[in-house]
Amino acid sequence: MSEPILRVEGLRVAFDHPLGKVQAVDDVSFTLSPGERFGLAGESGSGKSTLALAILRMIKPPGRIDTGEVWLDGARLADLDEDGIRALRLAVIALVPQGSMNSLNPVLRIGRQIADAFADHGQHLGRHEEKRRIAGLLADVGLPETVSRMYPHELSGGMKQRACIAIAISLRPKVIIADEPTSALDVVVQRQVMATLARVQQDLAAAVVLIGRDMGLMAQFVDRLGVMYAGRLVEVAPIAEIITKPRHPYTRALIAALPSLDARGTLVGIPGLAPLLRDLPPGCAFHPRCPQARDRCHIEKPMVRDVGRAQVACHLA
Ligand code: SF4
Repeated sequence: MSEPILRVEGLRVAFDHPLGKVQAVDDVSFTLSPGERFGLAGESGSGKSTLALAILRMIKPPGRIDTGEVWLDGARLADLDEDGIRALRLAVIALVPQGSMNSLNPVLRIGRQIADAFADHGQHLGRHEEKRRIAGLLADVGLPETVSRMYPHELSGGMKQRACIAIAISLRPKVIIADEPTSALDVVVQRQVMATLARVQQDLAAAVVLIGRDMGLMAQFVDRLGVMYAGRLVEVAPIAEIITKPRHPYTRALIAALPSLDARGTLVGIPGLAPLLRDLPPGCAFHPRCPQARDRCHIEKPMVRDVGRAQVACHLA
């Protein structure tokens, strides 16, 4: 097996809140192989995006990384200063952000924003070479060259998201983190954006971490899936295994909530609400919503254990 391109070990991220400490990411560990597609699924507030920002070292106060290590392409990120981290961003790891409209600079043309990525990494290209590279990147994501002279507000939602992908791949990163890249897009455009992401991922042979809530999308795109609940990774397994044999009750509930063509008109939700991270229940944080909770679950936090090819945090696994 090849060395992981990304290794996260025991990562903990906390936010200081007037009412107490909020543990947004709690002891998360996983690895990502070169070229692998890994999904991170869970409800809003489960810590997925915070985990992505922590990997990119983009957590801002009052947030902080309490403990844990991130290794990226052989480099231990804790050993790097801010300049070292900046050099890795885009060149080794890139983010396709959630909400492209808020991520693109509204007063700069798309071409300028792509060119900034080159300049930030010391690539001062001549005018013709810069134009050629920008046109190539836009073509890679299915956009015409004319888009380079347009402002973000002149583009549709799907075009803006593809422009964000073009910026993310501008320096041919080895890892792409795509944070809910299709949220707020209609299903047809969602499909186009995911097809674009899949194509550029294959062209670059990059690994992808896809963050989202849509288990159907995950089933179509990823090789392995991690399920997050209340800041913890509660199950990680190959996608085929997780869909056919989910081991954690929360994973089962997420899959059961998928709309089914066989059961028209019947939508199944997960009972209760996701817990407040600053006020988690004792024991297993899922116990108030878990149909299989036992007495033990109310007092004892389940540790992550290997179960076949999966890792599961549940007393019953
Ligand atoms: Fe449910 Fe208990 Fe497993 Fe938590 S540890 S998911 S409450 S069975």
